Amino acid sequence: MRSGFPLLAAQAGLHYLDSAATAQIHRDALDAVLRHETGSRANVMRGTYALADAADRAYESARGAAARFLNVAAEEIVFTSGATAALNLVAHSFGAGLQAGDRVLVSQAEHHSNFVPWLMLRERKGIALDVLPVRPDGQLDLGRLPQLLREETRLVALTQCSNVTGAITDVAAVVDAARRVGARVVLDGAQAVQHGPQDLRALGVDFYAFSGHKCFGPGGVGVLWGRAELLCTLPPFCGGGGMVGEVNLDGFSWAEAPRRFEAGTPPIAQAVGLAAALDWMMSLDWPRLRERETALCARLLDGLREIPGLRVLGSMAAEGRAPIVSFEIAGLHPHDICQVLDAHGLALRGGHHCAQPLLAALGVEACTRASLALYNDESDVAALLDGLRHAAKALR
Ligand code: PLP
Repeated sequence: MRSGFPLLAAQAGLHYLDSAATAQIHRDALDAVLRHETGSRANVMRGTYALADAADRAYESARGAAARFLNVAAEEIVFTSGATAALNLVAHSFGAGLQAGDRVLVSQAEHHSNFVPWLMLRERKGIALDVLPVRPDGQLDLGRLPQLLREETRLVALTQCSNVTGAITDVAAVVDAARRVGARVVLDGAQAVQHGPQDLRALGVDFYAFSGHKCFGPGGVGVLWGRAELLCTLPPFCGGGGMVGEVNLDGFSWAEAPRRFEAGTPPIAQAVGLAAALDWMMSLDWPRLRERETALCARLLDGLREIPGLRVLGSMAAEGRAPIVSFEIAGLHPHDICQVLDAHGLALRGGHHCAQPLLAALGVEACTRASLALYNDESDVAALLDGLRHAAKALR
């Protein structure tokens, strides 16, 4: 696996355990970007010459790859700069139809990218924001849904997988409850896509957001998926070239979706690179990879149990979660821990992980996070456990 990732192949001593922040880029994605930039680089939807035509085809074919990865139609794929931009797009375009008295439900487990846009919408529109609490094991307290979902709830915005605890949301239960009150569901898939292709038709949600850099693709590109019947009714978020039908001194008309939501020059080469990463992911044996991820996560959790003063945030079970494990060590600051680990070739993130409401619920201000991806193996986990034992001694 490691040999498919140029950075990891070049840095044999590196134990990269921060894939929840950014996964390493796969060689296929890099090659596709280089091929595009040196063979088909031109702007899209503007030129009539052969090279522009090649760029158009490459970009639209990338849309097709993203659609296959999510089991949806290509015209439902909007390229954005990332998950954050995709979620802000929903907050603006879907939010434009909301008014004071309407309600949006989010959870306390959200990344700031799926929390702050709704706080901003509340400020803009005077909507009410309801917050689904998390249980001590990091799972969303879905038992509270019937109470929190009301006739006025228009949208439920939840993460598919926590970037702190690795807890996976029971999406079917959420969709079922939301449908009872006629609410739409937007799912933040940023942490889920790295662990395999998604079947959005089966999940039954209405919008889905993810970033390319978290699923072995380039940075600067992401995807918003929205049901065709919704996208075609929503107003654009940003104005500019490409998203209009006609413009005159009195106004403008909207282009069809998805172009309506892609104002300006889109991230063309990045989308092409992302498509190569997604195609590569679709060629893998995911049941086997997930088994491997779970076994590695179990090994990590077992080892963490042995470290004095260490508390894992959320569940200690390796099954039914993503291999993202956050912890605190009594009396030690995560930044100090990460610095000691860095000296041992271990790349981990310490801090609030852009999830301050969740950390508050879990009773900490900051924590250290190890996130495993398909290129990690036993040697990474063993090095981390050694590094932590060393840090615990050195910092006390
Ligand atoms: N949602 C979740 C759950 C995340 O973990 C992240 C990034 O860490 C994001 C959204 C935002 O992703 P991006 O910064 O790529 O837009």
